[in-house]
Formats: sequence, C-alpha cells, structure tokens
Amino acid sequence: MKMYLVSLNDDMYDAIKERADSINNSMAYVVRECLKRMDAIELNPKLDIKIRRWNGEEWADRVKNRDNYVCRECDEQCTRMTTEAHHILPKKKGGKNTLDNGITLCKSCHKNIHIGMKKYKQI
Ligand SMILES: [Zn+2]
Ligand SMILES: [Zn+2]
Repeated sequence: MKMYLVSLNDDMYDAIKERADSINNSMAYVVRECLKRMDAIELNPKLDIKIRRWNGEEWADRVKNRDNYVCRECDEQCTRMTTEAHHILPKKKGGKNTLDNGITLCKSCHKNIHIGMKKYKQI
C-alpha cells in the first residue's frame, strides 16, 4: 500500500486534530478532505495517510531557511551548520514548533540569549 506522510507544524496539527474530534472522525479523514479540495494529490482510496508533527530538526530547518541563515541578533550571514533555531517562547513554557515561534541565531548569540534567560529567571 502506498503511504503518504504529512508532516505539520504544531498549530496545523492541533487544528486538524480539533476538527477530527469535532466531527468524530480520524485525522487522516480530515487531511484527505483537505487534499481533495486542493487537488493536491491523486486520491487513491487505498492511500494510507500518516500524520505527524514536525520533529525538532524539521522545525529548525524551516526556521533557518526562512531567515536565509542570517542571525537575527547580530545579522551575521551564517550557514546551515553554523546557525541554530531558537524557540521564542520556550518549549517548557508551552512554546510550539511553529515558524512564528522560531528565530535563527548564530551559535554565540544563541548561547548568550540562553545565559540571559537564565539570569532573568534568577532575578
Ligand atoms: Zn549572532
Ligand atoms: Zn534557544
């Protein structure tokens, strides 16, 4: 059986889950309906749709790509390897893996921001 993997940011994942719960159907059903409306894929009824959230790496790649690998703190042009994605609202505080909640930082700015956050917490 063919498998179609749909990888979503947290906001989209939650929205689809909410819709699925409200109509008492599966998330795959909701995604199938969306895709049908968008004519995005040829809908083989046997197509097995798997839905999951972006993992940390997918999220980070998308954030860094959006920012063209430029550190948003010091404006340095970096590369994929020398940038890191930072959660504006930390995951621990309910921050999500969405583009809105991420910024690209170079390694040293990222470190400084986390040191600053720690100090702020201690005050
Ligand atoms: Zn920087
Ligand atoms: Zn960070």
